[in-house]
Amino acid sequence: MASEYPLTPTTSPTPAAERARILAAPGFGRYFTDHMATATWSADLGWHGHRVGPLEPFSLHPSAAVLHYAQEIFEGLKAYRHADGTVWLFRPEENAARFARSARRMALPQLPEEDFLAGVEALVRADEPWVPVPGNEESLYLRPFMFASEAFLGVRPATQLVFSVIASPAGPYFAGGLTGVTLWVTSTYSRAARGGTGAAKCGGNYAGGLAAQLEAEEHGCDQVLYLDSAGEGNLEESGTMNLCLITADGRLITPPLGTILEGVTRDTLLTLAAEAGLTCQQRPITIEELRAGAADGTVTEVFAAGTAAVVTPVIGFKGDGYAFTVGDGEPGRQTAALRTRVLDIQYGRAEDAHGWLRRV
Ligand code: PMP
Repeated sequence: MASEYPLTPTTSPTPAAERARILAAPGFGRYFTDHMATATWSADLGWHGHRVGPLEPFSLHPSAAVLHYAQEIFEGLKAYRHADGTVWLFRPEENAARFARSARRMALPQLPEEDFLAGVEALVRADEPWVPVPGNEESLYLRPFMFASEAFLGVRPATQLVFSVIASPAGPYFAGGLTGVTLWVTSTYSRAARGGTGAAKCGGNYAGGLAAQLEAEEHGCDQVLYLDSAGEGNLEESGTMNLCLITADGRLITPPLGTILEGVTRDTLLTLAAEAGLTCQQRPITIEELRAGAADGTVTEVFAAGTAAVVTPVIGFKGDGYAFTVGDGEPGRQTAALRTRVLDIQYGRAEDAHGWLRRV
C-alpha cells in the first residue's frame, strides 16, 4: 500500500488572476505552484512524515551532506491536461523505477516506487488548477528529488534525507515552431565513464556538464554532444537528451545503454518508431560514421529526445576543425511525424494502446 500524503493547503495561494497570467507564458522552470510534497528518511525511522504542504524553503544546516558531497538525485516528468479537462501522467512508473536505480547508484535508500508515484500524484491533485489548458504543448513539469540533509562532514552515505516533489508550469519548448538545433561535439569534456554515474540522474552529472555547455555556446551551438570517455569516438548523448539517427534505408539507430541516461522518451520512441515501420538498433555509432553518413546521405535525419522538448531535430554538428549538416539542414519529416505521434498520445488525441497514461 502506498503512503498517504495528507494535504495542508496553503493559506496564501497565488491569486487566480496571477496564476492565469503565469500560465499564459510560463516559459520553463521559472514559476512554481503553491504546494510541495515531502517525506523524510532517517536510518532509525525509515521513511516518515509524508505530506503535501505549502511550497516553502528548506532549512538546512551548513554542513548538510548534499551541499558538500552532492548525494542527490532527481527526476523530471510532466502532467498533461486532456481536452475533456482530465489530467494524466505519462509513464510515471518508468520515472519511479529510474529514481530507484539512481538511488542505488548514489547510496541513497530506496523510496518505494508506489510512494514516489503517490507523492507526485498528491502534488498534482493539490495544484490541479496549475495544469495548463494546452493551446500549444503546455504542461505541468514535475520535479521529484531526494537529497542528503544530515549535518555531518564525514564522507559516507547520509543517515538523514529528504524526498520532495515540486511543480512548475511549462510552455511550448519551440515557441516559434519546430526548429532544429546544432550540437557541439566536445573533445575537451566527457560526461561519464564506465563504472561512473552516467546512467544515474544525479545533480553532479549536470554540474559537470555546465562547462561543456558553455564551450558549446562559445562555438555558436545550442547544446553539447558527448562522446565516450575511452576516446573511441562513440556518440553518447547531449546535456539533457538522448540522440537518435534515422537512415535512408529505414533504420533508427541510438547509442546503447550503459553510460547514458535511460530516457523514457528514448524508450517510447523505440516502440513508436518500430510501429511506424523503422528497424530500431541500439548500438555504438562513432562520430566518424555519423559524419560519413550525413555526407553520403545514408543518415537522413538526427534528433534528440527528452521529456522537456519531446523530440528536437538536430540539423548540424560542429567539432574541433569540422562542421557538417544533416540532410538539407531542415527538420526531417520522420522526426516531425514521431514527435506528433508522442504528443498525440500524451495529450489524449490518439489511442493509448500501450497503457502509458496514468490518470491523476
Ligand atoms: N539524457 C539526459 C542526460 C537527461 O537529463 C535527460 C532528461 N531526463 C534525458 C537524456 C532524456 O530522458 P527522458 O526522456 O526520461 O526525459
